[in-house]
Amino acid sequence: MPLKDKDRLREYKQNWALKNRERLLAAKKEWYQANKERALAKCKERYANNKEEIRALQKIYSREHSADAVARVKAWRKGNPDRYRADQARTKARHTDRIRKWSAEWYAKNKAQRREYNAAHVAEIQARQKAYAKANAVAMREKRKAWLKKNPDYMEEYQVNRRALELGAVGTHTVKEIHALYDQQGGRCAYFSVCGAFIKKSGPFKYRKDHIMPLKPRNPEEPRGTNLITNIQLVCIACNSRKHNAEPYKFTQQYEGRLFPDLPSFL
Ligand SMILES: [Zn+2]
Repeated sequence: MPLKDKDRLREYKQNWALKNRERLLAAKKEWYQANKERALAKCKERYANNKEEIRALQKIYSREHSADAVARVKAWRKGNPDRYRADQARTKARHTDRIRKWSAEWYAKNKAQRREYNAAHVAEIQARQKAYAKANAVAMREKRKAWLKKNPDYMEEYQVNRRALELGAVGTHTVKEIHALYDQQGGRCAYFSVCGAFIKKSGPFKYRKDHIMPLKPRNPEEPRGTNLITNIQLVCIACNSRKHNAEPYKFTQQYEGRLFPDLPSFL
């Protein structure tokens, strides 16, 4: 076939395809529906055989069209706010640990920058926090309650500090201080020499916190103790109920220098 005829034939074919575009597309679709498995298998095969090449092409394509892609994603998010939010929540729930790790790393890396930003935006941040707290008051309260239930030491601390505040006592103390005190006492009741009792860190035999000088003395004229860690000792259940709100020096003097005369001394 001479060259001219070849060109004419190609032109004719192209024109025919253009004129019958719809028909061709419909036929293609029909074939695809009927041969889905085969088409997919072929696609996969082609991809497996030309992995490197296809990936390189994809990279070039996505680099050239990154702006389009971003715009498309943004538009989709705007058009499907509920689905986007649900997706986000699902991802968050699925990768909680990873997300937490990442953000901790990021925070650690950008400490100075963060501090600078926070210092420059104090009022703005406070306003935002206030607005958030106001809008989520109920949810935040529930969350706090659930957290305290899971962390009974903090719940106790909260209650003790609150009671002290109500009684007008000076100072507060923290769970960390209590735990340090526990270690300092070596897991023993503060009156160990008398009662010989070990105290646990949790469970039914958990230590009791005793204000050495009571917050609310039996005799209201006696001096009141503070709620600072320096006025706290950890005691066993028995010692706690024996001493209760007694003034410690008088309590000791009452029994000839011994706190509990009914118990044998271990020393
Ligand atoms: Zn004791």
